[in-house]
Amino acid sequence: MNECAIGIDLGGTKIKVALVDRSGQIYYNQKIPTRAELGSQSVIQAIVQEVAKLQSSKEYQIKALGIGVAGQIEADSGIVKFAPNLKWHNVALKSGLYHQIHLPVAVVDDVKAAAYGEWKYGAGKGCSDLVCMFIGTGIGGGIIANGKLFGGGSNTAGEIGHMIVEQNGPECTCGNWGCVEAIGGGWAIAKHAKEMVKNDRQAGQYLLDCCQSIDEITAAHVALGAQKGDPLCQKVIGNAVNAIVACSVNIVNVLNPIKLIVGGGVVKGIPHLLDEIRKGIKARALAAACGNLEVVDAALGDNAGVVGAATYALDQV
Ligand SMILES: [Zn+2]
Repeated sequence: MNECAIGIDLGGTKIKVALVDRSGQIYYNQKIPTRAELGSQSVIQAIVQEVAKLQSSKEYQIKALGIGVAGQIEADSGIVKFAPNLKWHNVALKSGLYHQIHLPVAVVDDVKAAAYGEWKYGAGKGCSDLVCMFIGTGIGGGIIANGKLFGGGSNTAGEIGHMIVEQNGPECTCGNWGCVEAIGGGWAIAKHAKEMVKNDRQAGQYLLDCCQSIDEITAAHVALGAQKGDPLCQKVIGNAVNAIVACSVNIVNVLNPIKLIVGGGVVKGIPHLLDEIRKGIKARALAAACGNLEVVDAALGDNAGVVGAATYALDQV
């Protein structure tokens, strides 16, 4: 019988549940709505029900459960200190699940889980020093150092999105200014484009033509506009790329990874992004830090989170 772990990606709108074996193979992949508005206990019950279905099947030997959550996680207790998407404060997720499913439970930040998956079975397989940078609505990261997931002093390491790349830059959701996410994250790309269109509707004609209203402009519209040569879109995307390149140079200088793995929805919309990162690193990072560095695309796509969470849990058992 195949040894497996359950991998869960707990998002603000949906919960992804998968069964993953010790070779990273996925046997079951399901999505259920989170319904966070019903409260944390109701979300935990929904997960317990999904787990019970898998446990009732005798086909797999389920050894552990790993769950990735976007938020601040206390490492050993598995308490979710704060998860803004779920509006959770101090939810005892690990013990709440363990008491009902009687499996070892590991709770990990969702982006760290995805980085773990890429390390074990994706673009970082076999590499003991790497950094994953995921650029979606926000920008997050995970660090593998010396063959281990690096948590830092209070388990928050890898918050790449809040690296300051412009001292007096735009305001970020974290309350600071000039974070890379506040220039290069999907929400920021959309926000800056909207502001520019409001200030100059003539320059914003392309975006106004493809959206019903200014409020409907998304990062995807802006990225496509830039590809089509629209000057306003190119300006916004150009700023985003510059910020991401600066962040990448800093990562290489500080952490000296062998691989810099880049993934996330925004990356797909900017086809030249990886080349720009490579060029920027070559031009501006310390030469000694990039001798054997490779900048590569993430390989696992949307499955990175569940594969990583399950594998992380299996590795803890
Ligand atoms: Zn920030």
